[in-house]
Amino acid sequence: MIPVGHTTRRKDLPVPAPRRPPDSAAAVLHAILQHGPVARSSVARVTRLSAATVTGATAALLRQRLIREVPEAAGPPGMGRPHVPLDVEPAAVGVIGVHVAVPCTTVALLDLRGRVLDEHRAPHGERDPGSVLAALGGGIAAMRREHPRRRILGAGLATGGWVDAANGTVIEHPVLGWRDVPAGAVLAEATGLPVRVDSNSRALLRAEQLFGAARMRESAAHLFVGNLVDVAFAAGGVVHEGPRSAAGAVAHLPVEGCAEACPCGRVGCLQVAVSERVVVRRALAAGLIDRPEIGDLVDAAAGGRAEAVRMLRDRARLVGRAAALLLDLFDPEVLVVAEAGVNRLPGCLATVRGEVAAHSSAGVDAVRIVHPSSFPDSVLAVAGGAVALHRVYASPLGRT
Ligand SMILES: [Zn+2]
Repeated sequence: MIPVGHTTRRKDLPVPAPRRPPDSAAAVLHAILQHGPVARSSVARVTRLSAATVTGATAALLRQRLIREVPEAAGPPGMGRPHVPLDVEPAAVGVIGVHVAVPCTTVALLDLRGRVLDEHRAPHGERDPGSVLAALGGGIAAMRREHPRRRILGAGLATGGWVDAANGTVIEHPVLGWRDVPAGAVLAEATGLPVRVDSNSRALLRAEQLFGAARMRESAAHLFVGNLVDVAFAAGGVVHEGPRSAAGAVAHLPVEGCAEACPCGRVGCLQVAVSERVVVRRALAAGLIDRPEIGDLVDAAAGGRAEAVRMLRDRARLVGRAAALLLDLFDPEVLVVAEAGVNRLPGCLATVRGEVAAHSSAGVDAVRIVHPSSFPDSVLAVAGGAVALHRVYASPLGRT
């Protein structure tokens, strides 16, 4: 405790961390992503950078082929220097997005707008980290061979569970049984690419910030519901990780009306109540689907099978209760709920919004605040790709 009347001396102050200068190339690239095609003068206006700084940054970004000048929009000749608009480069470069799910892995190629250009999915052979990462190294190499003309800027790996993004480590994946797996270092060694690793929910929140429902928003939250359940949130445009990289672990949030036993020893935890595995198991037992695929259950519901609709609505109700709690906790401008039924079925989205309206102080604003995933057909590929694209947009000239 500081005694009354004590003056803080310089030697008593904590040593500050070295301050990084703002990355003007990152600000310029981000402005071009959000507003492109856009003139340099407009980039200067939205970034509040000087014209000279914008000119320098765009020259460097053009050299790296991260942006391009859009030729067809150039002004007529002889009218002085035309305002040639700039846009994100669509063809020369890309990133590899990798996702590790409970049953399978996904390897995808994405462009700088987060569009999935190619995607391969394969069930796991062995599920141990060494086997899965070796298979992924092969998958990444194969993808690069198929697209030899595109320069790959890096790879990103997204997975469920507890992930330390700073160290590229999967600390714990409870269903796969992974512990302290240095996935980033292993894949970087195998591929020669810079590799980043992050959790599903943080990765997808970053994708929503760059390309989706959370664009231009200061605050946003993301609830991911797959086999694992996790949450990410951002304030001031920055995704919170926490000192242990553990923010958003809501798997064991108690929910009402669920009698399912959780591996943690309790009953009625959110993750067992809404996990894809549990829903798929019930759907198989009820004869609604022939193989353990949540997509097949969503197809059955979309085709009008009443029992499939009921099963997904029940799940959406529980997801909606959790969403209501998250809204009251974070009060974000946008809450994205990425769940197979909510992503594709308007009735499931309405159920989530209805639960939020009934149980959260957000009330009638639920429709404005709660959104399905912006990437319903490619959630896994976009999650992995967003991990790599976040690095590109945060530090486009590699100044990390
Ligand atoms: Zn539990």
